[in-house]
Amino acid sequence: MRKIAFGYSTRCNVRCEHCVAADAVLDSAKIDLLQALDIIDDMAAAHVKGISFTAGEPLLYLDDICSLLTRCKQHGIYSRVVTNSFWAKTPAIAESIVAKLQENGLCQLRLSYSRWHQKNISSINVVNAAKSCQKSGLDYFVSFVTDFSEEDDTFEAYLRGNELLFFPEPVIYSGRAQGFPRKPLQTDYQDNCCVMNPYLAPGLDMYACCDAGSHFSKTNFFHLGNLQESTIEQLLLKSEQNILYAHIRNIGISGIASFAGFTAREIVQYRKCELCEKLFNSPDTLAMLEKEATAGLEKWHR
Ligand code: SF4
Ligand code: SF4
Repeated sequence: MRKIAFGYSTRCNVRCEHCVAADAVLDSAKIDLLQALDIIDDMAAAHVKGISFTAGEPLLYLDDICSLLTRCKQHGIYSRVVTNSFWAKTPAIAESIVAKLQENGLCQLRLSYSRWHQKNISSINVVNAAKSCQKSGLDYFVSFVTDFSEEDDTFEAYLRGNELLFFPEPVIYSGRAQGFPRKPLQTDYQDNCCVMNPYLAPGLDMYACCDAGSHFSKTNFFHLGNLQESTIEQLLLKSEQNILYAHIRNIGISGIASFAGFTAREIVQYRKCELCEKLFNSPDTLAMLEKEATAGLEKWHR
């Protein structure tokens, strides 16, 4: 099923230290609303079935996002908004905004939460937003971004204590989190396969991966193209037909690293996106993998 992360704007009202969406060049870029509506029409024609509004803080543009949600609803596209809950200052305000989003067709609200977010946004906002969803029946979950350190235990306990639905999500060491100190991992050998949903940035560049993929500056490996030069259909086909992307989905980053000569002991020391960067943001390694994509790498699976 075709799904896209839609970066309507990179503008945000806070500056979290760990923000992966932070872009030094286009700090507050935004797509023109009428153009964004046309893009959603094109996405519908290209059989996109899910759109997640993300990047900066989408609800800084509440009315625009409502128009975009309505357009998604008209096309039968599943919609999600990722927000930092800055708007949910009281239960009453939260309820009125959740009602507005729901009236305009929002299918799911994803609430970002972490010890970094909560330096800027009160935790009670997240509770207000989540409780409003619970009350109105809007699907929601809290995305609990963590580096698995002990200081995150109280943040996790807060979510449990308030009976919120939440899922831990590892911090991505990219964007502003690039220089964060890494804690040693305590896990076994994972395949590290990625679904890879494409990401449309406000400058209309599309990337094959919506997480750290737009930061691979040495090779631009995940860059699919720009909507000013290509159609949605062409860019999606590029994402679906690229053999190395298919290997990331099926073999996984660990298997590809093993093929590239990384030892198993080395592989378990990296986070998924860091290992991905080692492989695909290195021009030499990428050239080798491209050469082997339909040869040795093709056979490198159980
Ligand atoms: S992590 Fe989210 S809330 Fe924080 S600065 Fe980035 S976009 Fe804004
Ligand atoms: S491992 Fe690579 S493909 Fe997967 S989310 Fe990270 S950057 Fe994207």
